[in-house]
Order: sequence, then structure tokens, then C-alpha cells
Amino acid sequence: MEDFYTIQGEGAYQGRAAYFIRLGGCDVGCVWCDVKDSWDAAAHPTVNVKEMTRRAKTSGGEIVVVTGGEPTLYDLSSLTAELKKAGLKTHLESSGAYPLTGEWDWVCFSPKKFKAPDPSFPGRANELKVVIFNKSDFEWAEEFALHVPPDCQLFLQPEWSREKEMVPLIIQYVKDHPKWTISLQVHKYMNIP
Ligand code: SF4
Repeated sequence: MEDFYTIQGEGAYQGRAAYFIRLGGCDVGCVWCDVKDSWDAAAHPTVNVKEMTRRAKTSGGEIVVVTGGEPTLYDLSSLTAELKKAGLKTHLESSGAYPLTGEWDWVCFSPKKFKAPDPSFPGRANELKVVIFNKSDFEWAEEFALHVPPDCQLFLQPEWSREKEMVPLIIQYVKDHPKWTISLQVHKYMNIP
């Protein structure tokens, strides 16, 4: 769908320069999705993985974040093989809707209520990032925290349109449950993509 060099705004690598590759196509259907243009894969051009890698390498960045859409719709093996051959770090952002393919240096697992993740996915997460849209999402987040590896980093992130209401609840929740960390979408505060 698009690719660009920017600053990772969320989660464990927040504030780090990263080249984003946003793959078109998603069948998860989050009602609050902020990239609905990504849903229809056919609306976006097909780009060869060598060309994607060339662009990422030319940016001068060290980290490539593959996001979507829902990237696990595709077999990502050839893409990650090319990126790694070019000496780039491969990071994935996914709802885990389908089994993981490819070689990843970092997997951010962000499950969505609208489509259950593949059962194999939580065990592969380096980072669990749960979007908090309403109060019941805390309990839902805890269910996933039981199934990720012990060293997985845990983040709670307010859904952007509900930020005002959810931030105070998240602050209190993290104070009461200190294994969690707050993630804010700082790229939105900085007005960058
Ligand atoms: S998984 Fe991501 S791209 Fe797909 S609907 Fe949800 S927020 Fe949007």
C-alpha cells in the first residue's frame, strides 16, 4: 500500500527510526481501524520484494517494520529473506490472524477482538500490544498475557479516538498491574506518518 521512512511511534521501539512497509489487504475488520484504505489489497500495486528491499536499504534506516493491513495474510518468507540479505532488521506488526511466516528479529503481536488470532501466534511474540477501546479490554489483554513468552514486553495503548477517556484508566491500571507499560502513538502527536 505504501512505504516510508519515519519514526516508530508505538511500543518497544518507540522513537526509533524505521522504514515502514505497509502491505495492502486485511480481513480483520476493526471498527476503529485508522487505515481502512488498506483493507482492499487489489486497490494497491504489486511491488517486487527486491524493489521493496532496495527502497528500504536506500533510506539509510536499520529497522524495517512490516505492517498492514494484516501482513500475515501473505507468506512473508521471501520478503524477510531479502531484507535480511540486505543487512536490515525485520520487525513485524500483526494481529496474528494467520500463522507466522518469515524470519523476524522482532514480532509485535496486537490481537484484535474482531478476529481471533491463530493459536500459534502468541508464543512467537516479543511484544504484546493491546489497544484499549473500553474497560473490558483490560481483562481481554490479561488473557493474552498468559500465552506469550515470559520475556515478552507488555503494552497497553489507548485507541486514538478514545484517548481522553481511556488514558486515565490505563494509568491507574498500570499502577495497579506494573508488569504492563503504557504505549502512546507518539507519531500522531508529532504529526508524522
Ligand atoms: S487489523 Fe489493523 S488494518 Fe486490519 S482492521 Fe484492524 S486495525 Fe485495521
